[in-house]
Amino acid sequence: MATTVLSPISSPAIKAAHAFRDRFGRAAQAVALAPGRVNLIGEHVDYCGGFVLPMAIDRYTAIAVAPSADPTAVRVGSGMAEAVCSFTLSGGRGPIMAAPAWARYVLGVVQLMIEAGEGVTGFDAWIESNVPLGAGLSSSAALEVATATAVDALHGRAREPMQAAALCQRAEHAFAGVPCGIMDQAASASARAGHAVLLDCRSGDTEHVPLDGASAGVLIANTNVKHALSDGAYAKRRADCKRAAEALGVELLRDATPALVEDRRAALDGLAYRRARHVTAEIERTVRAAGHLRRGDWTSFGRCMDNSHASLRDDFEVSCTELDTMVDIAQQIGTTGGVYGSRMTGGGFGGCTVSLVQVEQADAITQQLHQAYESQTGITPDIFLTRPARGAHVLNLK
Ligand code: ADP
Ligand code: MG
Repeated sequence: MATTVLSPISSPAIKAAHAFRDRFGRAAQAVALAPGRVNLIGEHVDYCGGFVLPMAIDRYTAIAVAPSADPTAVRVGSGMAEAVCSFTLSGGRGPIMAAPAWARYVLGVVQLMIEAGEGVTGFDAWIESNVPLGAGLSSSAALEVATATAVDALHGRAREPMQAAALCQRAEHAFAGVPCGIMDQAASASARAGHAVLLDCRSGDTEHVPLDGASAGVLIANTNVKHALSDGAYAKRRADCKRAAEALGVELLRDATPALVEDRRAALDGLAYRRARHVTAEIERTVRAAGHLRRGDWTSFGRCMDNSHASLRDDFEVSCTELDTMVDIAQQIGTTGGVYGSRMTGGGFGGCTVSLVQVEQADAITQQLHQAYESQTGITPDIFLTRPARGAHVLNLK
C-alpha cells in the first residue's frame, strides 16, 4: 500500500498519533487511514448482483499503531469510547463477542486474519475519526478497512484492496451481525482521489470513473432521523427481490431487465413487480449514469439521481418524509440554482441525501437546504460538501 507524508488535512491521523503517545507512552509506528463513503447511485441493487457507484468521502477513520512488547497482547482504544480494550491474540472468538460493540469491528478483522493462518503479533492501537457515526456514511467499513490496513502495515504485508474489502465484509457479518454487501468496504479500500467507483456487485470488478470535484461537488445532507422500522424492512425487501427473481426465472434480478419485468408482469404479485421494476431500472440507470460521469455531463447524471429517488420512494418504498423533504427542496432549487440532481442515499428510512451541485453555489445551496428543511420538519440537519477522496492508505511515521 502506498505511503504519503503527514499533512495538516489528515487531522484524524494527527489526533490518533497524539492520543497514541498520551495513552501508550511511546510513539506510534504508523497511522492507517480509511474513508467513509457515499453512494452516488445504484441503491438496493447490491444484493441483487447489480452495479453501484459509490465514492470515498474526505472524512477518515485513522488508526495509529505500534508493536507491543508482549507478542500475544492487543490493546485498542478510540476517542469515541471510554475504556481501552485488552485482548489475547490466541483467545478465539468468545472474548471478542463479549467486547463492546465498537471493539468487535477491530478485533473481528484481526481474528479473521488469525483464522486464515496469517500470523499476527501483539500491538497497541488508537482510533480517531471524523466520519459521522451511524449516518449511513459507513463509519463501520472505515473502521474495519483502517484496521486491516494498519495491521497489514505493522506486519509488512500488502493486500489487494478488494481482498481487504472481502475480509472486512466477512468481519462485519460475523462480528457485528450485519449482512452487508461488498460496496462499503470496496469503496473505502479501493477508491482513488477524483474518482467514483463503478462496482459490479456480482463479479467484484471495479472501474474508477473520473469525477472532477473542482467543477461538480457532492453535497451530503444528514436528515438526522433514523426510523426504527429499517431493520425488518431490509429483510423484507431482500425477500421481495428473491421472490421476484424466482417468478422471472432468473437467479438474481441482475439477470432481468425492465422489459422482461413488463413482459412477465402477470407472473408477479404486485409488490414483487414494483420491487423488480425498481431494481432492474436502477441497475440500467447506474450504468448509464457512469457514462454521463465519464463525459462530465452533470445535467444528465443529476436527472438519473432524481429518477433514482422517485423509484426508491414509489416502487421500492424505502424513503421517508424527511428524506423526501430534503430531496424536494434540493430539486426545487434545480439546475438554475446549481443543483443537478438529488436523491436519498443508503438503506433509507432516514440517514442522508446526496446531491450533485455546482461547487460555486454550494454555500448558498447549503444555506437554503438547512433553512427550508429545518422550518418544514423542525429538525436541524447536518450538511457538508465533499469530494471524491482517496481510499485506504498508510502514513509511516518513522
Ligand atoms: P455507519 O456504518 O452507517 O456509520 P454502523 O451502525 O454500521 O453505522 O456503524 C457505526 C458503529 O461503528 C458505531 O456505533 C461504533 O460501534 C463503530 N464505530 C465506527 N467508527 C468508530 C470509531 N471511530 N470509534 C469507535 N467505534 C466506531
Ligand atoms: Mg455501517
